[in-house]
Amino acid sequence: MVDEQIERRGIQDDRVLAAMRKVERHCFLPDNLWESAYRDHPLPIGEEQTISQPYIVALMSESLRLVGDERVLEVGTGSGYQTAVLAELAKEVFTVEILPGLAERARSVLETLGYRNIHILIGDGRKGWPENALYDAILVAAAPREVPEALLEQLKEEGRLVIPVGEVNQELELYTRKAGATSSERIASVRFVPLR
Ligand code: SAH
Repeated sequence: MVDEQIERRGIQDDRVLAAMRKVERHCFLPDNLWESAYRDHPLPIGEEQTISQPYIVALMSESLRLVGDERVLEVGTGSGYQTAVLAELAKEVFTVEILPGLAERARSVLETLGYRNIHILIGDGRKGWPENALYDAILVAAAPREVPEALLEQLKEEGRLVIPVGEVNQELELYTRKAGATSSERIASVRFVPLR
């Protein structure tokens, strides 16, 4: 999967490629979907939500330019797959999921896999997780119509936020905070579930 769908499509960061090789996607899926686990598609994980497409997980992770000592906030834990990839790339991951059933399932998988640097909160990720702010990087895995202000406020100076924005046609955007101001760039056209 990584050779053909991720490296060939232009992901270059060696740490991201290593994390994508290490985290086994089938662990985050029900047994009846194991056969499809290494195809480059989103797949259903219940409650009308999906596990993200591997290439998009790699692209979002790479855009945060993590080196290993960061505290990262993720909004939309879902299956916990992207969370595990972030936990391989950063020091601590704080992840917020609004649906308790998904959060608990992700918690159990991530514990079984032995992750000790992941903290899960059940709640509305639009508010971020202020008790643990500020963050070096924030990744949002569901699309709002506009970037929630609370997330930009919880970003450190030089911090980066990657987020899909829009309704039907969404753009993956990267925000960087510098000298109190925020600049943004577009990375790709994407399709995520809506941020509630
Ligand atoms: N990256 C995840 C997929 C996330 S799907 C994976 O690979 O499995 C998006 C997730 O965001 C869903 O689980 C959905 O329940 C969650 N979500 C939607 N709105 C939210 C909100 N306001 N706060 C926190 N989580 C939210």
